[in-house]
Amino acid sequence: MDRCLNCHGTLKKTETECFLCGAKVPRETNQTIFRRRFATVVRIMFFISIPLTIASLFTDYTPSFAKCFATLVVLTFVRNSADQMAEKKNT
Ligand SMILES: [Zn+2]
Repeated sequence: MDRCLNCHGTLKKTETECFLCGAKVPRETNQTIFRRRFATVVRIMFFISIPLTIASLFTDYTPSFAKCFATLVVLTFVRNSADQMAEKKNT
């Protein structure tokens, strides 16, 4: 059983609005699921690109250091905004 965040009244699973106070019930929409998945994927890529950037300094098996470093910088920005997006939706 869900509870209204506003008045703590009980809510049915199917209700999208509290019938006591009219407050919107936060539902797990496709968009929030997508945002969270996106944030997770970016995080994984970020943690992969760190050792890859370091490895690119020493081996030829990885893309060039400049490419790895650029990817890492881009991912840092994307990760920050993706985290912010995911957090904003949860509050
Ligand atoms: Zn309510």
